[in-house]
Amino acid sequence: MRFDVLTLFPEMFPGYLGQSLLKLAIQRGIVETGLHNIRDWSRDKHHAVDDRPFGGGPGMLLKPEPVVECVEEVRSRCSPAGRLILLTPQGRRFDQRLAEEFALSQRLMLLCGRYEGFDQRVMDLLAPEEVSVGDYVLNGGEVAAMVIIDAVVRLIPGVLGDEQSSVEDSFSRGNRMLEHAQYTRPREYRGRSVPEVLLSGDHEQIARWREASRTERTESRRSDLLSAGQADSKTQAEPKT
Ligand code: SAM
Repeated sequence: MRFDVLTLFPEMFPGYLGQSLLKLAIQRGIVETGLHNIRDWSRDKHHAVDDRPFGGGPGMLLKPEPVVECVEEVRSRCSPAGRLILLTPQGRRFDQRLAEEFALSQRLMLLCGRYEGFDQRVMDLLAPEEVSVGDYVLNGGEVAAMVIIDAVVRLIPGVLGDEQSSVEDSFSRGNRMLEHAQYTRPREYRGRSVPEVLLSGDHEQIARWREASRTERTESRRSDLLSAGQADSKTQAEPKT
């Protein structure tokens, strides 16, 4: 899978891409990345990419020409063109389902904004998928792009040592709930012991304990997930008219 990031700050990425699972995925050729500096498409002699908003107001906006031309050129360089995702707090909220959908693509282009965001003609002309990583405002789209890459990469077959771990993760396909409680060594720490059942070697009992732990956690912390799951299964069960 290939990720192309279009940004004014490409230097934010190599440190992140060079660590841990992502580093390995890139070394193994499972993941490819391209970093593109939008400023390289500026036609301005000072390489300006932003300007004041018409009608007044605070801050600066990203001009349409360098952004649109950068996207068009990067898009034309690789086949397939892939999905164009524009990071904005005004977009569709990113979640595990969307990560699963993105993981089926061969290519994602992630367009990062800065300042007060993009001139409206960027959205009008490129018709990107507008995606938000949450209801808060970041200084730029780079951290949001990293969030998306991070969530998607772990769903690509071959990236995790054990494929089962992404299936058992909170919010995942196999389990639209929170993950169960987990313990490792030591068996006792500051008077708190690992539940006996996890040491029993009885796989059926362990599975039952984990199911109960998932349900208890989800009910107490995120009961909205349970009602969403019920709504989903109802929709699936009802024949389409
Ligand atoms: N003025 C814009 C608004 O209110 O919608 C916010 C601009 S923000 C300071 C600058 C850039 O950060 C945005 O263009 C976007 O790319 C990115 N950004 C900020 N918050 C984001 C979020 N929650 N999800 C995705 N991208 C975000």
